[in-house]
Amino acid sequence: MTKDTWIGDVRAGNYDGEEVELKGWIHRSRGSNKIRFVVLRDSTGTVQCVVKRDSVGDAIFDAMKDALIESSVIICGLVQPTDREHGHEVQVSSATVVGPVNPERPFPITESAMAEADGGETEFLLDNRHLYLRTGRMTTMLKLRSTVFGAIHQYFRDRDFIEYQAPNFVAGAVEGGSTLFEVPYFGRKAYLTQSWQLYAEAAMPALERLYTMAPSFRAEKSRTRRHLTEFWHAEMEIAWASNADVMEHGEGVVRHIAKSLLEERETELESLGRDLDLIARYADNPYPRMRYDEAVETLQGMGVGIEWGQDLDYSKEKVLTEDFDVPHFLTHYPRIAKPFYHRPDPDDPKYVLCHDLLAPEGYGEIIGGGERTWSEDKILERIDEEGTPHEPYEFYIDVRRYGGVPHGGFGLGVDRVCAWLGGADHIRETIPFPRDSRRVTP
Ligand code: ATP
Ligand code: MG
Repeated sequence: MTKDTWIGDVRAGNYDGEEVELKGWIHRSRGSNKIRFVVLRDSTGTVQCVVKRDSVGDAIFDAMKDALIESSVIICGLVQPTDREHGHEVQVSSATVVGPVNPERPFPITESAMAEADGGETEFLLDNRHLYLRTGRMTTMLKLRSTVFGAIHQYFRDRDFIEYQAPNFVAGAVEGGSTLFEVPYFGRKAYLTQSWQLYAEAAMPALERLYTMAPSFRAEKSRTRRHLTEFWHAEMEIAWASNADVMEHGEGVVRHIAKSLLEERETELESLGRDLDLIARYADNPYPRMRYDEAVETLQGMGVGIEWGQDLDYSKEKVLTEDFDVPHFLTHYPRIAKPFYHRPDPDDPKYVLCHDLLAPEGYGEIIGGGERTWSEDKILERIDEEGTPHEPYEFYIDVRRYGGVPHGGFGLGVDRVCAWLGGADHIRETIPFPRDSRRVTP
């Protein structure tokens, strides 16, 4: 049972005056005992189908009249252009209800159910996430998300990067112990990976240019609008590269994502209320670079309490980025604010050669990256400085023992990029089944 006619094509006028067979779900239905107006939905859009008792006979008419919202149906009919809301209508000649909805359990997501839900609308929709996926805004976000994933693969593959996979069970932290998920592992402890990076560095001398897109796991205790416990992480690692080289790719991939969205998802961006000129600016204009010290001074000038040496949390990034018109790189964070693998700046080892890319409109960090500490003695010095045990990192140190070279990479939060470019208030709007400290269902 294949499907070859899509509502989006009907809406585009490709079938005017033709008989079609449409497969989809009932989005809305109203009318009388003689005529029904059934709005049919599929993954490409909605179209109004007019069912008349006189044309289809009693059996089909009554079946359609009784079919509840979200019943799946196959409808045959003639496509006619109209000047009504949908632009095109289908005059139905026959119809079959494929998957009926039991009247004792009608589709639970309704305006009144949302308004009356005990825990509020947000929790209600999260509880019904499996059904919420098929509603307009969510479907639109998921399409946007697919384009973002495609654009990231395309960017790296067009530049001869090799897609490379690392394990998800690991023995050590990348981003600090406080967000590690511990899992029992046959009498030992293992952790869910926070990042692909350390294992990518091991393959750097083999592949030189590598990337991945995979989930990373972080036990984020505080619930914010930009943290998930399981998020999609696009990471890259490149040999013979400086911090500036890595930033070029970060800027390149984000601009390519914005460009791809404009090419493939103009309708979706508009339906999410996004300003296309803004997205075009993100695609076309260069991203400025700013040192950490300058950002701290700017924030202090704005009356935001921050001391030199502190990492920028969301509240500070929000203030800083509200007036940005394109993403900005912040570079040269203090060594004390960053994990051991960041390479100290040879010109002033108080700082490390790193960068965060901060998205405008108050979104803040979407990329964290930089140059890696690449010689054996320097990495041992940094690990000891942090008081980190050597054992889980022996393989990582080994990479430096056998032909270390300058290299670097970054991690981009794919869900965060979707939230920013899709204009979402919360990161969970961009992922089908969001995971946070309170929720692993549905
Ligand atoms: P933050 O300060 O916001 O917690 P981070 O400094 O921990 O971010 P990195 O370790 O540099 O982030 O990770 C690289 C990228 O991964 C970040 O720039 C962000 O886009 C994304 N990211 C990190 N943690 C999360 C999370 N919990 N949920 C979603 N995306 C995340
Ligand atoms: Mg973090």
